Amino acid sequence: MLKTQGHNSPLDASLADAYGRAIRYVRLSVTDRCNLRCLYCQSPAKYEYIPHPSILTYEEMLRLAGIFYGLGVRKLRLSGGEPLVRKGCADFLVSLRERFADLDIRMTSNGTLIGPIIPVLARIRVGCVNISLDTFSPDVFAEITGRNMLACVLDNVNALRMSGIPIKLNAVALRGITDRELPAFIAFAKEKEIDVRFIEFMPMGKGTLWSRERFLPVSELRQAAEECVRLRPIESRSPTDGPARMYAIAGSRGRLGFISAVTDHFCSTCNRLRITSDGALRLCLFDDREYALRPLLRNRRVTGESIARCIRALCQRKVIGNEVLLARRKTAVAEKRMSGIGGWLW
Ligand code: SAM
Repeated sequence: MLKTQGHNSPLDASLADAYGRAIRYVRLSVTDRCNLRCLYCQSPAKYEYIPHPSILTYEEMLRLAGIFYGLGVRKLRLSGGEPLVRKGCADFLVSLRERFADLDIRMTSNGTLIGPIIPVLARIRVGCVNISLDTFSPDVFAEITGRNMLACVLDNVNALRMSGIPIKLNAVALRGITDRELPAFIAFAKEKEIDVRFIEFMPMGKGTLWSRERFLPVSELRQAAEECVRLRPIESRSPTDGPARMYAIAGSRGRLGFISAVTDHFCSTCNRLRITSDGALRLCLFDDREYALRPLLRNRRVTGESIARCIRALCQRKVIGNEVLLARRKTAVAEKRMSGIGGWLW
């Protein structure tokens, strides 16, 4: 268990929580809307979208990004929902780059709408685009996402690669799907020379189709992969490298990553915060408490410095997510579905 270190002084430039975890990374949900209906993310029940006036404007998001930048955050990932369903997302990316020359700007996308903005992504020197893709079968893709768009995603992945944009492929580990298609994922990593990462299906969002039967521990996937190819573990360079345990595939530049979000947590190195599309600060994925920053951003009398102080103070409430998850195992799943929070790790 991590030990708390008490409140950090308001004079400290960078952001840290009560456990001494430095916060360097913010995930910003640009919208809660999505053009896919992934079974692990969305509930089949009707979801009430956040009304437009409650969604942060791009100008508000830029201001917030500046406040976080001032607090030492140097990595910003746009997520959602699907960030690219929101009109003006490409212009927003350009504005971010214009204001923050050295910010590591990244994006997580389902890859369906990304084709037309590839030149923009190249121009702003996007740090990496993570594409979520759970299958190579058109039928299974349609079953998982509710849309028949696999070919479009694969075309866009190729176009991203051709443009020299760093990409990673992320798949939620689903029993009966990922295990069956593991050879195809390995072949893809080898052929495209990219990172393919598997994340455990997390019990997020009421009414989604999480079940023990669908759950597939990534340790099982890794063992199965080792029967197909020789894997060499890659030491992470720093504790903030990211949560995936990465393995080089012998004879290829492609790599496989395994993210044991459920079976073996990595909360001790968590360096991230989340901002929901309606402007709430979420300190931990598994902690349902959210802190509304939007009223502060919309109040002309509240300065950026005051908001920064507020964020710094709230960070002291960041919990060890695994402890929340363990307590929850006895009850149900987290309140909020993933698309409202902006995804988990990627
Ligand atoms: N629309 C974008 C996309 O598809 O990548 C960004 C948002 S999506 C919520 C972000 C990531 O969260 C996706 O990679 C998705 O696979 C993952 N995700 C959603 N629900 C999940 C769950 N219950 N367990 C694990 N990963 C999940």
